Amino acid sequence: MAIQTIEVRERVMARNDELAAQVRSRLDAHGVVAFNLVSSPGAGKTTLLERTLAAVGKELEIAVITGDVQTQNDAERLAVHTDRIVSAVITDGACHLDALQVLTALDALDLDHTRLLFIENVGNLVCPANWDLGEREKIVLFSVTEGEDKPLKYPAMFKRARHVVMTKTDLLPYVPFDIHAAMANAVRVNPELSFLEVSALRSWGLRDWFGFLRYSAAGEQVSA
Ligand code: MG
Ligand code: ZN
Repeated sequence: MAIQTIEVRERVMARNDELAAQVRSRLDAHGVVAFNLVSSPGAGKTTLLERTLAAVGKELEIAVITGDVQTQNDAERLAVHTDRIVSAVITDGACHLDALQVLTALDALDLDHTRLLFIENVGNLVCPANWDLGEREKIVLFSVTEGEDKPLKYPAMFKRARHVVMTKTDLLPYVPFDIHAAMANAVRVNPELSFLEVSALRSWGLRDWFGFLRYSAAGEQVSA
């Protein structure tokens, strides 16, 4: 029985990878750079996206796909900050987005007028690590209200990500969180990681974040 379970899982993952490749080639054809935003629940993905859409959503032609287990609350929050369609996936109990959901969600988006696509994954540091969504890179949000050992507890996610955004830094004076120890733990898991520190609430670090996004969008334009 155990062997049968593994085979089924492998087949499902292989199918997902095929669909992710379809997502990727469709995005490439339109010169769209996609980021898969992952984190624990409550790390601030939606808040960071709200601020991002409000400030540079038009300039960088940002589109968003949200994944929620049971509501479309995040999509509704984000829709306030953009004229564009926010494509909401309700996973109906599943704890991650898969490539088929993203491929379907792309149909609602105007890819000809999109340069950056954010896929806000379900809040979960475990299985979203294993599901390729066709993104260029995964970005992990890591809030200062979590434990510094998160990267050691969830190494797969930090290994597969390229960037870490430390969030809620305005709370650092009030929590026993050593941000340097936390980042050192992440680097132990993946020496290639780059870091940004932000407080979306206080607008700290957002200029660097927007700079990173501009750079990402421009890089694609040059090569397209
Ligand atoms: Mg959210
Ligand atoms: Zn899952």
